[in-house]
Amino acid sequence: MDENRVTYSVPKLTDYSASALEKAAGECIAACQAESTAVRNDADLKAFRDRWIARKNGILTQVNDSWLKGAPKDAKREAGIRVNEIKAAVADILDKAGYLLLETSTASLARDSIDISLPGIRRPIGAEHPVVKTTNEIVGVFQKLGYSVADGPVVETDYYNFEALNFPPNHPARDTQDTLFIAGQQSKPQRERLLLRTHTSPVQIRTMEKMRPPIRIVIPGTVHRNDPPDASHSPMFHQIEGLAVDTNITFGDLKGTLDHAMKALFGSSVKTHFRPSFFPFTEPSAELYVTCFICGGIGKRGADPCRPCKQTGWIEVLGCGMVDPNVFEFVKDNGYDPKKVSGFAFGMGVDRLALLKYGVDDLQYFFQGDVRFLQQFG
Ligand SMILES: [Zn+2]
Repeated sequence: MDENRVTYSVPKLTDYSASALEKAAGECIAACQAESTAVRNDADLKAFRDRWIARKNGILTQVNDSWLKGAPKDAKREAGIRVNEIKAAVADILDKAGYLLLETSTASLARDSIDISLPGIRRPIGAEHPVVKTTNEIVGVFQKLGYSVADGPVVETDYYNFEALNFPPNHPARDTQDTLFIAGQQSKPQRERLLLRTHTSPVQIRTMEKMRPPIRIVIPGTVHRNDPPDASHSPMFHQIEGLAVDTNITFGDLKGTLDHAMKALFGSSVKTHFRPSFFPFTEPSAELYVTCFICGGIGKRGADPCRPCKQTGWIEVLGCGMVDPNVFEFVKDNGYDPKKVSGFAFGMGVDRLALLKYGVDDLQYFFQGDVRFLQQFG
């Protein structure tokens, strides 16, 4: 209780006239009333109660002793009436203060309480995005073959994205990658200039710099190219890269590994087929085709032509090849002497595989974040 408000003390009466008693009683009740407004909590209420009605030296006791017992005989009756009036008033005020306090705490209880009859808040469990799901499936197949997962930066230097992968400066193969360059890099030497990686292949070099052979890694990640978005292109998309380096790795190992992986991904009945191709960082290079897992390799769905395989019965899945010895030259000091080790690499576009797998006809659906689309894969 605010100590400053506790100013009332029982005055000693000299005048016991009816008007003086009435005035004294009025002041006493008014003081009690004023003090009651400062009651804020249970401790306040107790102090307030003690001060006014404690049997020993409470204000009511003092009033009784001083004003009634000390009154001259002829004023006793009048004094008794006033003292009873004060007692009744103080009891009222105390009751009211207690009641108000109770009311406040009940109100706050009501405010804090929980309506257990209300239905709960539904928090739907999310699901993997089709691209993430496809990534995890592919990574899972290679993890079972003993591959580990490697990671690298999305903002790369020219050196890791091109030069160390056997794209020499000014080589026309760079033009095929529609690179997004970071602005304001002109003052740096070309190999240090920053760009958004156009493939996950730079992580091959970064990993070989850190780990000595033998290695077997898969590298999932986002890549960027300056392609306007349409049904089959996006400036941001996903790749999974693979690299195996050891002594005596041959093209036979590449074919066996990828044939197994394709059967694990698309079903044991798919056939694989390699066609010669070109990539700067592999030699020889190939494109891997699998029998269309939509039409089963027939090229038709009933009477209709099969669009995903363009009626050929084959779908191109990835690019691959034996690691070019020129690439090993860049990491030769870490045990990758091209005369002693050999390896194969492969890379695939995850988004395209997810499109085929789930029969989605527009790549943009994957990146628009429309819950109605995504819920179908939950
Ligand atoms: Zn087909």
